[in-house]
Amino acid sequence: MNGPVPRKGILDIDAYVPGKSAAPAGVKLWKLSSNETPLGPSAHAKAAYAAAGEKLELYPDGASSALRTAIAARYGLDPAWLICGAGSDELLSLLAYTYLGPGDEAVYSEHGFLVYKIATLAAGATPVVAPEKNYTADVDALLARVTAKTKIVFLANPNNPTGTYLPFDEVKRLHAGLRSDILLVLDAAYAEYVRANDYESGLELVATSPNVVMARTFSKIYGLANLRLGWMVGPPAVIDAVNRIRGPFNVSGPAMAAGIAAIQDDGHVADAIAHNDKWLAFLTKELTGLGLGVTPSVGNFLLVHFPKEAGKSARDADAFLTERGLILRRVDAYGLPDALRLTIGPEEANRLVVETLREFLSK
Ligand SMILES: *Cc1c(COP(=O)(O)O)cnc(C)c1O
Repeated sequence: MNGPVPRKGILDIDAYVPGKSAAPAGVKLWKLSSNETPLGPSAHAKAAYAAAGEKLELYPDGASSALRTAIAARYGLDPAWLICGAGSDELLSLLAYTYLGPGDEAVYSEHGFLVYKIATLAAGATPVVAPEKNYTADVDALLARVTAKTKIVFLANPNNPTGTYLPFDEVKRLHAGLRSDILLVLDAAYAEYVRANDYESGLELVATSPNVVMARTFSKIYGLANLRLGWMVGPPAVIDAVNRIRGPFNVSGPAMAAGIAAIQDDGHVADAIAHNDKWLAFLTKELTGLGLGVTPSVGNFLLVHFPKEAGKSARDADAFLTERGLILRRVDAYGLPDALRLTIGPEEANRLVVETLREFLSK
C-alpha cells in the first residue's frame, strides 16, 4: 500500500528540536534551554491578553493593523513597511518560500540559526554554509560563497547559539558586497539585549536599501514566546510579496493585544536589560573562572565550551546538570558537540549553574 509521498527533499530535512524542558521527578526544574526571559512578560501584556480572550469567536484583523501601528510608533517606521507573523520563524520561512526555489541558493554562516537551513530546504533550495572565525560570522567568507544562484543571505545578529555579533560597519560591508537582487535578511531576535556602541539592529540599512529586511520577535526580551509573535520591516515591494503567501489570519488577536502592550512597556524592557547585564557578566566571569571556555555574548545566553576528555565533556556536563534540574541546550545540531548553550536565568538558577559546574569539574 503506497501512501502520499512528500515532495523531493522534504524527508532529508532534520526537524527543529526545541530545548528540553523536563527534569527528574521531585527535582526543581530550571529551563535554561530556549533563551526565554526569567522576568516573564509585562503585566500590561498579560492584562491585554486576558481581555482579548473575552472575544475568541471573532477572526482577528488579518493585517495586524493596530500592532503594526504600535511598532511603527515605537521605532519611527511606516506601517506599510511592516508585516507581522506567528513568531519571526514564520516570517523567515515565508521569505524562503517567496524568494527561493529549486536551483537557488541561500547563504548563512557555519553556526547560524537552524531555521535558515530548514526554511531553505523546505523551499527546495540549496543551503550554502560559510565558515566563521572565533564563532563569529565572517563577511569575507559569506561574500565568497555568493554565486549567480544566490537569492538570500541570512544573518542572525546577534547570532544564536554563539551570542556573537557583527558591528554595523561589517553588516554594511556585507550588504555592499551583495548584488541588489540578493535579499539580505537580518534576524535581530536579541537586539534589545545588545550593549555595544558599534551595533545597529538593521533599521538604518533597511531604510536605505531595496534589498534588506530585518526580523524581530516578541519571544525573547518581551517574554511572549508562548503566543508566537514576530514582525519584520522591509521595503514595501518585499512586504507585498510576502503578504501574498502568508496565512490570511496568521497572528491571533490575543497575541496582537499582548504585543501592543508589551512594546509600550519600556520599564519592563529596561528591567530585563538590567537583569541580563548583571547576570551575563556574572556567569561569563564565574564560568571562565572554572576553566571553561565561554564565548563572549551580547545576548541573553552563553555558549560554554567543555573539554573533550571523557567524564568532562559537554554531553557528560549536560547529564550532570539535568539530574539536578538544570536544563541547558545541546548544540550538536549547530556543529558544536563540545559546547552547551546556557540561557541567563533568575538569580537562583544562575548561582546554581555555577556551583553545579564547579562540582562537575572537580569530581
Ligand atoms: C528565538 C529566535 C528567533 C525567534 O523565534 P520566534 O519564532 O519569534 O519565537 C529568531 N531568530 C533567532 C536567531 C532566535 O534565536
